[in-house]
This record gives sequence, structure tokens and C-alpha cells, in this order.
Amino acid sequence: MSKILDVRDLKTYFRTPDGVVKAVDGISFEMMKGEILALVGESGCGKSVTVQTVMGLVKVPPALVEGQILYRDRNLVGMSNKEYRNIRGKEISMIFQEPMSTFDPLFTIGYQLTEVAKAHMEWDDQKTREEIISVLRKVNIPEPEKRYREYPHEMSGGMLQRIMIAMALITNPEIIIADEPTTALDVTIQAQVLNIMRDLQKEFDSSIIFITHDLGVVAELSDRVHVMYAGKIVEKALVSDLYNSPMHPYTRGLLNSRVKREYKGKKLPYVEGYVPRAHEFPKGCRFNPRCPHAMELCREQDPPEISISETHTAACWLYGEDQRL
Ligand code: SF4
Repeated sequence: MSKILDVRDLKTYFRTPDGVVKAVDGISFEMMKGEILALVGESGCGKSVTVQTVMGLVKVPPALVEGQILYRDRNLVGMSNKEYRNIRGKEISMIFQEPMSTFDPLFTIGYQLTEVAKAHMEWDDQKTREEIISVLRKVNIPEPEKRYREYPHEMSGGMLQRIMIAMALITNPEIIIADEPTTALDVTIQAQVLNIMRDLQKEFDSSIIFITHDLGVVAELSDRVHVMYAGKIVEKALVSDLYNSPMHPYTRGLLNSRVKREYKGKKLPYVEGYVPRAHEFPKGCRFNPRCPHAMELCREQDPPEISISETHTAACWLYGEDQRL
């Protein structure tokens, strides 16, 4: 598999009256063609800001973005808005969490998909309509010709979410970023949407960055997982390795917090404490106030990314005290 995205030491900072918020603080990751990569973590860990930065949706200034986002040998950091517009929506597209707020209630589905297609593709009217109907069919929209003429309020939430996937696919993008795409849906519809995404990824050979806080969804869909905590990536692993041998104490806590049958009627285990606010991260490892294994070193120095195997890393002193500065 060839590399399609290479993010190096990416930082996204915001100035606020309370101080500088280091929402993303020096993360690096790569993405291969055709893979599904999950970014996982609690709210406020920096996963959504990461993908918004990749999409060029963070306004600079006032925000500060540093590092590199290499896509097809071009660095997206520092690219002008005009240049970004040629990539965003065409080569890298996004599926948002809330379909209801993505679509304009005043226009038909066909009109809104046509606008997206016309912004990026050089198709005539007939070809545009044919492509839209075809992609609606691919995301299992029944009677797509009829739905094309209908308005968002005439669709269910699950149907709108599938239409949003269709909207992201219409330009046949290289990378699709899906930000919690199933959170607003009920469980049966979630499974349907995930199945569609998996089938379409195979058919289109797209690469997908999948943002979620739900580890069940990660197991369903992804090839590799990166766990984020307080603006950093704390563990990178293949899905099977992450579930079979999680290394970082935060990942273990997340996995233990999943609702299991055996906990029925009992108090659920959870990761104690809260994600620290982004302008008041603790010294050393940012997880140290919540970590059951915290040592003196953890309170002094931030752990580097430590290699566990060729495909598995953890930023934790438990695996490399000898790497202290
Ligand atoms: Fe816990 Fe220390 Fe590892 Fe941080 S570095 S996760 S505090 S053991």
C-alpha cells in the first residue's frame, strides 16, 4: 500500500482569554491508500480539531497551525484558501456528525448534490444527474430518482446520513474524513451506515479517517487505530493488537469502560477523572493525574512515542524508562 497522507509534528493552537489552548500538540501519523484509520478518544482530546486542520477548516490566524500535512507531496499547512478549495471536497471530503444541519432545508437533495458536483467536476447536466442517481443507489437510497426531487425534511435521519456519504463520494475522493458519522443515529441504523461505508471503501478504494469515541465502532470498521489524549496520540496499533494487548493505561481504561454484559446491574468501570482543560495540561505525561501506574518520572517528563512492535507504539514510560532525557 502506498502512503497517501503524512502528518508530521502537527500543532493547532488557539489563543483564548484563559491562555493558549493546545488542541493538537505535535502529532504525527501516516495513512496508507485504501486503509481505514480510526482516531479515538474522549471529547476534547483533539481528534476533531486534527481533522478540521487536515481539511483546512481552521482559520489561521487567529489560530496557529504548525508542522506538515503532506498530501501527494504537497504540504497543506500554509496553503492558500484558493488552493485548498481545489482539494477540499474533491480530493479530501468530509462526512459530518449531524446530517440535519448539513443540508439546507430550502433546497432539494438533487439540487444540493448538484452544487457539490458542479463545484468540482466538469460534467454536463445530464452526466451530473446520472452520477448523482448512481451514487444515491450505491448508498442504498430506495427510488433515488424520486428522492432526488425531495427535500431533507422528507427523509429519515439514517437516510440523510447515507445521502451525506453519497455527497462525500460524488467526486470520488482519495480521502474521506468521517467525524462521528453514526453518533446521531440509533443502533440498528448505525450498523447499516457502517456496512455501507465498509462496502463503499472497498469499491472506491478510498482511504477513510474515522473519528469516534466508540471503540465498538472501531472494531467494526477500522484497520488501524490511533488513540488520542489531551492533544497527543498516546497509542498507535492495528485493531487486533489494540483489543488483544492494549499498552497505554488510557487505552486500557477506555476498553474497560465499554458496557459489557457481565456488568449488567453493577457499577460500570470507567477512567476516573477528566480530560484536563487544554490550557492547563499537567507537567510530564498528561494522563498522569488519572493514571493508576503514574511514577515520579511521569510527573516530570512527557513520554516519547515508544515502539512496542513494528506496528504498535505507546507514549508511556512503562515501556521505556531508559529513554528519559
Ligand atoms: Fe501512566 Fe506514566 Fe504511562 Fe503516563 S507515562 S500513562 S502516567 S505510566
